[in-house]
Parts: sequence; structure tokens; C-alpha cells
Amino acid sequence: MKFSRNTLGQKLTLLYLLLFAVCFVFTHTQGTNYIRSKVVKETSDMLREAGTVILTRHIEQQAYTPETIRNFQSHIEVGAETADCRILLVNIDGDILIDTKNSKVSDNIYRYDSSFLRRDYVENLTLGKLIERPVLSVPLPITNCVFLSGHLVMLSPMERIEKRSAYYFNILDGLFYVFMGTLMIVFIVIYITNVFPLKKLTRKAEAFSIRRDNPPIIMHSNDEYSDLAKTLNIIGEEMSKFDEYQKMFIANISHDFRSPLTSIRGYAEAMLDGTIPVEKQEKYLNTILFETDRLNHLTSNLLALNTADQNSIFLEYSVFDIQECIRKTTDSLEVSAAKKNIQFYFKFATDTELYVNADINRIQQVLHNLIDNAIKFSENNSTITLGTKKMGDKIFILVKDTGIGIPRRDMKKIWERFYKSDLSRGKDKKGTGLGLCICKEIIDAHAQTINVVSTEGVGSEFIFTLEADKR
Ligand code: ADP
Repeated sequence: MKFSRNTLGQKLTLLYLLLFAVCFVFTHTQGTNYIRSKVVKETSDMLREAGTVILTRHIEQQAYTPETIRNFQSHIEVGAETADCRILLVNIDGDILIDTKNSKVSDNIYRYDSSFLRRDYVENLTLGKLIERPVLSVPLPITNCVFLSGHLVMLSPMERIEKRSAYYFNILDGLFYVFMGTLMIVFIVIYITNVFPLKKLTRKAEAFSIRRDNPPIIMHSNDEYSDLAKTLNIIGEEMSKFDEYQKMFIANISHDFRSPLTSIRGYAEAMLDGTIPVEKQEKYLNTILFETDRLNHLTSNLLALNTADQNSIFLEYSVFDIQECIRKTTDSLEVSAAKKNIQFYFKFATDTELYVNADINRIQQVLHNLIDNAIKFSENNSTITLGTKKMGDKIFILVKDTGIGIPRRDMKKIWERFYKSDLSRGKDKKGTGLGLCICKEIIDAHAQTINVVSTEGVGSEFIFTLEADKR
């Protein structure tokens, strides 16, 4: 996936704007409401506390007579000053005995809507001429023994509450902008630290796709991007190797096809223009036949390799007797073995059956290639040993000859496509160098192993494993 600078930038901007909008709406609705209700609650608690102090110390349990009023009037006034509020003292008949704002008051609370006296607190209260500007009122009942004898009404102007709320809200607003500013810096940093390495990687990856011998991508960071750069470098290296391999593969095929075709064409032309006289034509026709055989062999090997590549994961597993399979394969190669008077010696793990779980057709092909090689590279009148051995849940299959062996320097290369050791060229003119590669692909597809032990001039021993049938 390719991230263009705009796309990531747009995504981050959109996310930021969304967060901004959500936070803005939240702070300006929920936040404001919360702050206001907190301030109202706090103020009403404070008023109640101040009222309770006045009540418990001075008023409760006393009878309100004009004489007694004077005794605690000054205390109420001090209380109102301390709590910075207005206090009304109301008797049971609703007469306002004390109003800290108006010492000459002579009014009755029941002339107004007095329902607020039954509530915990009331916001925005106004009572005609008595309370003209909205206030927060906290009425405290005064009880004489168990009987209600009046009310102490604590009043604080709403204006002050709004001011305090606005003060807290300004702090919240400030914090909101600081938070959004920090978030914006974070987003910008994310943008810079992501977009630049991504752009660099994209540029380099594009360069790779055009020319694979480009220098490797170097990232100076130690993060996921440098990991990605390393992976891209590995892919680049593998692709370069693959390019090389592909060139070599095509060069090899062309070479292997061209040489038999050149000789077929040459002999056919020579026969047509009379360079080869009719009486000698049989010999050259046999050579043409030999060369066409070689081409046939090469094409079927290439086809086998192609199917192994494509179907390596689609093996048709079945349970079969590997020892019987080995015998059948040797039967099919008996004619070529007999030509060199080569004997097969069977060194089997059991006298009866030995079951494996594998794709029988593919394993027959492996055995055919290995035994065919063993015959090709063995001297006349020699023996080829075919063995099986059970170890744990694996069956080891062995094909051993006493032929020319494989030079140490060729040991690794023999599994490559088209590889033929110099030693073998004289012995095997038909070989395509694909047989062992096919064997390896098949055994790898079975998730098993194939190995060779060989000494030049002494012989070779090919061993591969298969999964033993568990039943
Ligand atoms: P080919 O089809 O040409 O035999 P292979 O892939 O089967 O190709 O073998 C590749 C090369 O490995 C051969 O050319 C030969 O040099 C070497 N090789 C394979 N099997 C043997 C063997 N049993 N003894 C000696 N050399 C072998």
C-alpha cells in the first residue's frame, strides 16, 4: 500500500479536527454545566454551614421576642459579613425580624411566593421589592424543641455565582486550548516522523523496481521503518539473485536445446544435399534419433520441474509400501542395468511391508531419478544397494552405488538446475542436470530431507526420508 503525503496528512488533520470538535462541544456544554452546578453546590453548602453556625450558637432554643432579637442581631450581621451574604430571619408567621441588608425592614415573607422555604436551595430567586436581583437562597428551618418556629434564610447574589463559574470556566477553556495545542504538536511530530521515512522507503522501493542493482536502502533510525528497509533490501537482493538465476536458466535451456537441434539440422541437410551418401545415412539417422531422444528427455524433465513448482503443496498423499515401490522402480530400469551387468542388492528394514505416507507417483519419480543416476555413473559389473531403515516416525531410503562419485567441490551444486559435474559429462551425454533438482523439490514438498554422501572414485550414497505410516 502506498501512503501519499496528502493522504496521511489529511487523515491526521481530519482526526485532529474531529477531536477538536468533540472536545470543544464537550467542554462548552457538559463542562460548563458541571462547573456551574459545582459552584452552586459549593456556595449553598457554604451558606448552609454559615447558617448552621449562627443557629446552633445563637438562635435555636430561644423564643423570638422583640427583646431577644436585639441580642442576636449583631451576631447575625457578623455572620452575614463573614459569609459575605444577606441573611433574613423570619418567624413562624412570616414576619421578617432581621434583614442584614435593610435594618428597617417591616415585611412579611408570605406576601410573596414562599415555596422556596421548603426547598434545599433555590437558584435565581427574586421576591418583588424584597429581593429585586436574583439570588441563591438557602433556607434553614429554626425549631423550638420539635416545633418549627421560623427560618433563617441565607442569600447570595447569582451574579457572584456566575462570576465564579466564569472564572473556573476560563481556566477549563485555557486548559482545553493548551491540550489541543499539545495535541497538534504531537500530530505534527507523528506526521513528520512517519511521512518522511515512508516517502524515503517508497522512493527507494520504486528505484528497486526499476533497477535492482540500486544501492541498499539505509535508514538511520532504529524502528519499524529500519526493519522495513532491511526487509526491502533482502527482497531486492533475492530479486537480483532471481534475475541472475533466470538469465542463467534461459541460457542453459537455450544451450541444451540448440546443440541437439544444430546437429539434427546439420545431418538432415547433409543427407539432403548428398554430402552423406545413402549407404552411410543409417548411422546418421541413429544420431538424429539419439538427439531427438535427448530433446524429449529434456522437455519431460522441464515439465516435471514445472509441475513440481506449481503443485508442491498439492501432493496426493496415500499410504503405500515403499519397499514394493522400490522393487517396481528397479524392475522398470532393469534393461539399462542389464546392459551394464549391474545387480541390485536390497537391504530392507523388514521382510514384509513398510508403509509410508507420501505421494506415490512423486516418490516413484525420485527413486527413478536416483537409481537411473546410480546406473549411469556406475562401472559395468557393479552392484547398486537399495535400502530402507525405520527410525522413530521416519523411514530412511538409501540408493548406494560404487560409481565415479561426486567431487567435493560439486557436492552443493548437484541440486541446482542444469548442473552436471565435469566428471559425469563423459559418462552421461543425455543428462540434463535436472534430475536431482526435481528430487529435491519433491522431497522438500513432503517436508522431508534428502542428502548425499559421496567420495570421488569410490561411489555415492543418496539418502532421503519419508513419514512412516502411523497406523
Ligand atoms: P542428470 O539428469 O543430468 O543426471 P542430475 O540432476 O540427476 O542430472 O545430476 C546432476 C549431476 O550430479 C550429474 O550430472 C552428476 O554430475 C552428478 N550425479 C548425480 N548422481 C550421481 C551419482 N550417483 N554418481 C555420481 N555423480 C552423480
